[in-house]
Amino acid sequence: MASVAFDRVVKRFGAHTVIEDLTLEIEDGEWLVLLGPSGCGKSTLLRMLAGLEDLSAGEIRLDGRVVNRLGPPQRNVAMVFQNYALYPHMTVRENLAFPLRMRRLRRVDRDERIQAAADMLGLGGLLERKPAELSGGQRQRVAMGRAIVREPSVFLMDEPLSNLDARLRAQIRMQIAELQQQLRTTTLYVTHDQVEAMTLGQRVAVMDQGRLQQVAAPLELYQRPANLFVAGFLGNPP
Ligand code: ADP
Ligand code: MG
Repeated sequence: MASVAFDRVVKRFGAHTVIEDLTLEIEDGEWLVLLGPSGCGKSTLLRMLAGLEDLSAGEIRLDGRVVNRLGPPQRNVAMVFQNYALYPHMTVRENLAFPLRMRRLRRVDRDERIQAAADMLGLGGLLERKPAELSGGQRQRVAMGRAIVREPSVFLMDEPLSNLDARLRAQIRMQIAELQQQLRTTTLYVTHDQVEAMTLGQRVAVMDQGRLQQVAAPLELYQRPANLFVAGFLGNPP
């Protein structure tokens, strides 16, 4: 596990400033939800933490150590994307084993981690299937499993439910909430959905146009929104 600090982070694409002077800390073991409308800079912030995008200014620290110059493999950060990609020719078990084979983990350790992730995500009966034989929700769980087996120190999720229909979204949201109880890994969860944010966030950081508007526990956001944007974007309690 690790704490995360964004310190006065700026990101520009050409003349366009996408993240403006953003400071945010996530405690060791905390689940923080980053909530904001499409285009406000959420994925960019996540990608900078994962090492997939350079900063224009500022610092990112993991456990107090500046990681600006470290590549993705050196950060031990695992990311679940909006468009999860599983290897179609591999079974679920092989998909889960893949990141571990890359790390030359011993077979017994590999099997143990795969079993633990499968139990956590209810994938036990699906291990010998291929992705084409799975539903959208099951595939999403495999994608999460593939991040979990790596035992990352930080877990990043970028709108993991946005490709699912409403019923599945509610179901998997509950599973993620359960997962949260078992998995005490520092997590930054990105969404534009206020219900997801309120269900899953210990704290929620509300963002608009590259700026943080408020960082607070869900109830406090409703009771004491810092400005009109926060009040309007959250609407009424779910
Ligand atoms: P969100 O995830 O909140 O929807 P993004 O972080 O994807 O927002 O994008 C924030 C802004 O940055 C958008 O205006 C987007 O067009 C712009 N942007 C993202 N990536 C790039 C890029 N590689 N080059 C230029 N502009 C980009
Ligand atoms: Mg995005």
